[in-house]
Amino acid sequence: MKVVIIGASFAGVSAALAIRKKHPQAEIHLIEKQQTIGYLPGGINLYFNKTIDPIETAQFISEEQLIDNDISLLLNARVVSMDSTQHIIKYEKQETEFFMSFDKLILATGSSQWSNKILGSDSEKVLKYKFLPGVLKAIERLENSDKVAVIGGGQIGGEAADTLLKKGKEVHLFERMDYLLFKYFDEEMIRPVQAEMVSRGVVFHFDETVEKVTDTDEGLLIETKKSELVCDSAIFGMNVRPDLGYLDEHIRTHTDQTVFVNEYLQTSQADVFAIGDCIQVPYSLSQESFYIPLVNNAVRTGLVVAQNLVEATTPFVGSIRTIGTKLVDYYVASTGLTEAEGLFHGQPIAVSHVQQRSSLFSGCEKICGKIIFEKESHKILGAQLVSKADILEKINTLALGIQMGQTLEELYQKDFLYHPYYSNVIDITNQLGFEGLWSEADEN
Ligand code: FAD
Repeated sequence: MKVVIIGASFAGVSAALAIRKKHPQAEIHLIEKQQTIGYLPGGINLYFNKTIDPIETAQFISEEQLIDNDISLLLNARVVSMDSTQHIIKYEKQETEFFMSFDKLILATGSSQWSNKILGSDSEKVLKYKFLPGVLKAIERLENSDKVAVIGGGQIGGEAADTLLKKGKEVHLFERMDYLLFKYFDEEMIRPVQAEMVSRGVVFHFDETVEKVTDTDEGLLIETKKSELVCDSAIFGMNVRPDLGYLDEHIRTHTDQTVFVNEYLQTSQADVFAIGDCIQVPYSLSQESFYIPLVNNAVRTGLVVAQNLVEATTPFVGSIRTIGTKLVDYYVASTGLTEAEGLFHGQPIAVSHVQQRSSLFSGCEKICGKIIFEKESHKILGAQLVSKADILEKINTLALGIQMGQTLEELYQKDFLYHPYYSNVIDITNQLGFEGLWSEADEN
């Protein structure tokens, strides 16, 4: 079996390694348009925070590891077209055209940062650093900028603002909604983080959509309906989009330009599959699919596609959008539905807030937690954690509970480790289940 994978990032690499395990005899070809592989998109923050140096070491896999797994890697090769009925792709390398046949094809071409809504956002001074060439330019430009505008208050923008603060830059963050990380947190949970960022100098421009960026003699002019700002450079912290110009007409796409796949990640052509940032993923809490570009989805779809290449056996379970990061002194983590989104959930929802010390003796920081659940069935729908203690891993327990369809009753009595020094007598994840249950009783 000859398997061709287009795109050698999180999704493509995870698929290649999983296929090598499942099909030891398969011929596997990874085709990648860039010169190197494995760059971590958040690497710029690791570099500026002095966790890594040089930036090239922000890498999750090396070429050698792929070669050791008998995977053929073709770098600097851009796939430009395909004939999915004849099982052939065309790629360009050093201005020469080549063709490659396949038995199974996996589209893992991900996404890149672009917007056709913000005029001028393709300017070189609007920094995009998902891939290594972009990050090299961004590092140089940011070193020479004093005043920086961050466009977008999601995870990319929030982390960029935090890094720029630490570097002593003047930071202006533009966000069309009225608070930071709105997709993942309810406003009251993120308020202390925002207040801390303001006290350290970030100027938030909430409820402001950037419409135009212009390179002027005075600097980069950022325009919204409400204000104008001249700065030295800007960071494009907005959502990424797929770029699928190479597809033929037999591969069905959605209106947002993502590739249509069934639950086995198969496209409208039987031997062609698609994974990672170029597809929508089912939202595990509703019947809908959404575009949720996250590494975790890319890696998991890569693992699942390996199971389904020859026979469709393993449906992809979908995503509940689990994320975590650190902004100023706060670790913040979220999974599943927010309370604001709960308005659109099929059943009435209820929420509960919990505050607890992280441990009795080590650190003793306060953890603020929130749980969102179905009022009737007590099924858990979402959770948010904010603390100066590192609670990031705890969100994974809550995510698993939600994925398994657990109720508050199951959550509050799940097993947990207790240690007199390292933990509290009840884990925050159990406490959230317990408080959720009793918040109901308190209301009655
Ligand atoms: P991509 O990583 O987009 O990779 C696709 C690959 O295909 C690329 O290497 C590209 O060069 C190649 N390619 C594309 N077209 C062709 C072609 N025609 N021919 C050959 N090769 C092609 N997510 C998280 O979960 N956590 C984070 O902390 C996080 N931080 C982020 C920070 C930034 C700044 C950005 C922009 C995104 C971040 N993300 C994060 C999102 C994450 O990067 C994506 O979800 C992830 O990279 C998707 O992986 P993928 O393999 O599907 O696609």
